[in-house]
Amino acid sequence: MSKKIIIAGGGAAGMCAAIYAARNGADVTIIEKNSQLGKKLSMTGNGRCNLSNLDMNEKMYNLSAEKRMKEWLSVYGVLDVINFFKSLGIVIKSEERYLYPVSGQASTVVSAFESEIKRLGVKVIYGEQVKSVKVHEMEPDNKALDAKQIEAVLTRGAKIDPNREKYTVVTNMNSYEADKVILATGSLSGAKSTMSTGDGYYICKQLGMTIKDTHPALVGFKCDESETMPTNGVRCTAEISFMLGVEALATEFGELQFTKDGISGIPVMQASGKIVKFLEEGKPIYVSINFFPDYDDDDFLALEKEMLRLRDDRSLKDFLNGFYNSNINDMVIARMKMGASMKMKNISESMVLSIFDSYRNYKIKLSESYGYQQAQVTSGGVSLGDIKDDMTVNGHNGIFVIGELLDVDGRCGGYNLQWAFTSGSIAGTVASL
Ligand SMILES: Cc1cc2nc3c(=O)[nH]c(=O)nc-3n(C[C@H](O)[C@H](O)[C@H](O)COP(=O)(O)OP(=O)(O)OC[C@H]3O[C@@H](n4cnc5c(N)ncnc54)[C@H](O)[C@@H]3O)c2cc1C
Repeated sequence: MSKKIIIAGGGAAGMCAAIYAARNGADVTIIEKNSQLGKKLSMTGNGRCNLSNLDMNEKMYNLSAEKRMKEWLSVYGVLDVINFFKSLGIVIKSEERYLYPVSGQASTVVSAFESEIKRLGVKVIYGEQVKSVKVHEMEPDNKALDAKQIEAVLTRGAKIDPNREKYTVVTNMNSYEADKVILATGSLSGAKSTMSTGDGYYICKQLGMTIKDTHPALVGFKCDESETMPTNGVRCTAEISFMLGVEALATEFGELQFTKDGISGIPVMQASGKIVKFLEEGKPIYVSINFFPDYDDDDFLALEKEMLRLRDDRSLKDFLNGFYNSNINDMVIARMKMGASMKMKNISESMVLSIFDSYRNYKIKLSESYGYQQAQVTSGGVSLGDIKDDMTVNGHNGIFVIGELLDVDGRCGGYNLQWAFTSGSIAGTVASL
């Protein structure tokens, strides 16, 4: 008889698990609280879906997950994702090793998942919110117990043989019986419309799992109110270091983005997982920006010398015109408390040098992250100590936890979707056996 599997959550991980389980002949139902599948998936990669990365290894994930990720990626890695997408009819391309669908549209990925789910006869229940999973024992004839019998087992505190467990998935409207349950309800991060409210943490806690403290990750930061920010949302290539006193907590390189009240962009997001915790503890964190990351000390000295030769009647603003982006120049001039119209000939050489130097070590104080709604992922979650290699929960051979609900978060670049597919494929396959 085919296994009856219920999957809570129809996001990237849940849909992937459903496909693997149904391809193996299981009777699969997805319960999705949103009115559509893959809502967050459709927003990924700025609508283009960065689904994995050719530079794939465990170091791309949080420290507490690295060891386990090595194992899991050896079971289902980037080549498996590529083959999986081939089987869905999605052609993939690499852009500097980041993998995207050739269509350039995340919506085509969601549609491909939906078509396969439909073709395989997976049932989808929309608009119901999974609230809890009740564990009870199979009757000798393999039938589930009724609600009264379950209650009796629970209140007796009887230990159930993990191999004889059956489950009731309770939603806000109904109860469903299952041989196996896959929890794939995601995290707390994402726009309001994704309904990412972290329900899975409560469900897993009720089942006795440990939930590690959560924080927004892959997120930008607001800057301290006292900081003067450049107008018009500047983007520039920079090296940025997050400083606690003189200690650099993280250093990243890439396209830095100034928002109206803070900083974002890939280098900021890459470091954010580490930095958010310090800010939440009230530690004073500054970001030190090097706007000339391609210049070493000698190159920069030569550039300064060349520029100094141009000191004449022109104003400071005109002098810096070709040196860097005008919005950044204005920000630097304001920081130096100088008038933009000051004549260069009236500014001392040492002052000009200190203006130049500030482009290589421009410090801005951060106040807080932009929070879960703007974060791409959540760090923390269900402890991997509660999860076996086959994605089942210790002590429950038929309950699986997958995707971002677990304490796994990767860097920007397709690593989080890779994890959703790795964990989804393993759970879907194992649950169907
Ligand atoms: C804006 C944005 C861009 C991103 N871009 C990328 C990218 O390009 N590459 C990358 O690798 N990662 C990216 N990510 C991260 C990636 O989207 C997530 O890591 C991934 O979607 C997690 O998959 P998941 O299935 O675990 O969770 P989700 O995709 O969040 O799916 C969880 C599903 O469960 C449903 N659900 C929740 N609670 C319940 C409940 N109680 N009952 C029933 N259903 C429930 C939700 O509605 C949702 O459909 C991005 C994230 C965001 C927010």
